[in-house]
Amino acid sequence: MPNPDPYTYFQVGSLYKRKDIHDLFGGQRQGGISTPSRYPVIFLFSSKRGKEFGYQDGWKDDGLYYYTGEGQVGDMTFTRGNLAIKNHLKDGKDLFLFETEGDLRRFIGRMSLVGYEEVTIPDIKGNLRKGILFKLIPQDASIEPEPLPYPEKYEKPEKRSFHDLRQAAFNAIKADGNVADSREAKARYYFRSNIIASYVRNRAYGFCEACGKFAPFNTTNGQPYLEPHHIRRRSDGGPDRPEFMIALCPNCHRKAHHGADQKKFNQALLQKAQWIERSLFNSTLKYVTAALTIDNEGRILIARRPTKGVLGDHWEFPGGKFEENETLEECLKRELKEELNLTVEIERPFMLVDHDYEKFQIRLFTYICKPMNSNLKLNEHSKYVWIKLKNLKNYKFTGADKRLIEIMLAHTSL
Ligand SMILES: [Zn+2]
Ligand SMILES: [Zn+2]
Repeated sequence: MPNPDPYTYFQVGSLYKRKDIHDLFGGQRQGGISTPSRYPVIFLFSSKRGKEFGYQDGWKDDGLYYYTGEGQVGDMTFTRGNLAIKNHLKDGKDLFLFETEGDLRRFIGRMSLVGYEEVTIPDIKGNLRKGILFKLIPQDASIEPEPLPYPEKYEKPEKRSFHDLRQAAFNAIKADGNVADSREAKARYYFRSNIIASYVRNRAYGFCEACGKFAPFNTTNGQPYLEPHHIRRRSDGGPDRPEFMIALCPNCHRKAHHGADQKKFNQALLQKAQWIERSLFNSTLKYVTAALTIDNEGRILIARRPTKGVLGDHWEFPGGKFEENETLEECLKRELKEELNLTVEIERPFMLVDHDYEKFQIRLFTYICKPMNSNLKLNEHSKYVWIKLKNLKNYKFTGADKRLIEIMLAHTSL
């Protein structure tokens, strides 16, 4: 089998030979914790060992799977396998849990670490030493019909600004799981999962990061409705790194799970998510708004950029760079007023277009607008014109706007 995918290969409840697991995916063939280098996974083999010492790996009443770390003699330390479990989310790896049954291994499921406890347990020589007890939760456990309420002390993610939210999401990934109380550990886990999902949902301000269309409706709390999709796992529970997640409209989300070409589609989504996060990490991603301002005669407003500066003499749909303390709509109105003395009424969001100019990247948020005045001024541009859509091809546009025009011309409702 060429390039097997561990996310689809292992079926919950099925039995596997340990040799086959390593033949396919690599990783250490001995010991309880195996870390293949070519796959973003960590295999945990629970042998139900330790029974003779009065402790045992397995499910507990709190709904968590308790898994004892590695190290047969002396204190357990956060090195090698134990460190890999502790950092699995930060390192972008998923835990695949197996239980030993005779010569075979039964796949229990994909897990996430909610916390760990340091406990005193005997080593194989019978000496008491420091042990590490990992508490694992099934990844899908965070899809609950009624999610846990936010603990009082945590602020609701929707209240935060984009950069605060992004910071909070990455803090959630790095969070240390040294929590003894299982309830508290689970509450924190749900909170972390929630804040990362919330960040991803807000990363494109309500526009689908695949098709670029705006969310089809608002939720009861007034947020545009998008679904956070876990690209690698194709099952949407638990926290994951934002570069493996993407905000999708319900149509695109169905396609990612059920489409005939879902493999190709998910590969494209993965590339997109990594492009976004890499550009944000490098601080080269600009959030820009643009207006498709259409007058009563069906003509659209375009303006020519000044000769000097980036993309000089290119035509564009006017708009400008988004500032943190405003909404996209406020940004658009402000920019049009500043640059062209134009007042508009925003009719509806049109489309998000992501574009890479190599030295920098932009996310262009576009809106259909109606002009409210005609005495325009050229405060930045060298020229403006109102033209019919069919004449757009006669002008030299910026790369992102060229892509936008292709979409517009293919779009019948405009
Ligand atoms: Zn979509
Ligand atoms: Zn999904």
